[in-house]
Parts: sequence; structure tokens; C-alpha cells
Amino acid sequence: MQVLADYPTESTEQIFARVYSEIARGKSVRAVVCVIRPYVNTMGKIHLRGDDLEVRISDLISGAPETVREALAWILFSKLFRRPVPPHWLAHYRRYMNRRDVRHTHQVVRQTRGRKYLSGPLGAYHDLDPLFDALNLKYFAGWMQKPLLGWSRKPSRWLLGHFDSAHNAIILSRILDQEKVPAIAVEYVLYHEMLHLKHPVEHRGARRCVHSREFHLEEQRFEGLKEAKAILKQL
Ligand SMILES: [Zn+2]
Repeated sequence: MQVLADYPTESTEQIFARVYSEIARGKSVRAVVCVIRPYVNTMGKIHLRGDDLEVRISDLISGAPETVREALAWILFSKLFRRPVPPHWLAHYRRYMNRRDVRHTHQVVRQTRGRKYLSGPLGAYHDLDPLFDALNLKYFAGWMQKPLLGWSRKPSRWLLGHFDSAHNAIILSRILDQEKVPAIAVEYVLYHEMLHLKHPVEHRGARRCVHSREFHLEEQRFEGLKEAKAILKQL
């Protein structure tokens, strides 16, 4: 049996703060923020803003053993400070990444995520999560299974939203994620895409959007339809 109780465990934040002070020779950061992202092509990124350090690490490695996260910290900081990566850390990292089970997981995740960019529901001004829940209750009696919700990478003007059946995701154009865009307009686009989930046969292809009579009729149920459409025209 392994006794772990007295083993000093470090959080990712602590690891990065410690490695930073080692590599920056005694300098330290005031605060470390670590966010976990769905990266597949990179395991992490670091940004120094004054005395604050922001660490973004892939969810593929956020649960890896501490020594692996430390190796990643050494690799990222060495790059930042334009220094060679300490060889034993590089070797440790590569050994982990080459592990059969790790390679397999990464491959599966890469396939499922593809090149798809999924931002998550929380934008800068609008959060799609509660908007979805409210619409679901109001118009679908709460029966609709929540797909992935996210914002497009680029603020498209002509494609305000789409339902991506391959990833089971509703993606709204980032152009809607602005302070000047009222929630009603975002709700309307989201509602429209939710109708595509309900009427899946009518929607073929990623960009083309076919709307049946039932679709149109159901869309008319949206309260504030006129107002929402007027706002979208202004964009
Ligand atoms: Zn449509």
C-alpha cells in the first residue's frame, strides 16, 4: 500500500510559481491563474502580465502527475526565457507523452475534437448556458438535451449561428457577444439553432440552412421576434 498522506502535493499554480522563481533566479510572481482549456495541439501556454502569471493548460495534461506538469512548466518557461530546456525534464515529459495509454487518449480526443474550435458557453458579455436553460424551459418544456454551446472564433456577420451535428454543438457568431447586443437578440439566434436540433432532418450541411413550414411556425412563437430581428439587422 502506498501512503500518500504526508506526501507534499502541489497544485498546478504552485508548481508554475515555484518553477518560475527557480528559472527567474529568485524573482517571483504575485499571482498565478491557471485555466484549463480544450487544447489538443499544444499542452500549454503562459502569459506574464506584470507580476501576474496566467497559465493555460490543456485538459489532456491538467490531470497528469505533478512531475509531468512540472516538466511542462520547465519547457514553457525555458521557451519564454529563451533557454535550453533542462534535459531531464524534457526526457521526463517525452516519456509521459509517449506512454501508450497517453498517446491513445490524445489520439481519440484529437479525432473527436478535430480542428473544431469550441470556446465554451461563457462569452465576454453573454453566457449561453443560462440562456439555453431558460429557452429550454419556456419553449421546449425542458426536454431538450443540452448540446455543447460556444462562440465562433471569428465574428461572422453572415452566419450568426449554426448547429454542428458532428460535434453536437450550437455555435453562435462572436459578433453577438458584445455589450451593445441585447440578450433578446442572442436568445433569438440561440432559439433558432435549438429548433434545428428539434428538426434535424431539415438541416443538412454545415452552412446551408433549410427551414420547413413547421420550423417557421415554431419560430413565430418566440416572444420579441420583431425586436430581435430588428437588432440583428443593425449589426
Ligand atoms: Zn436555420
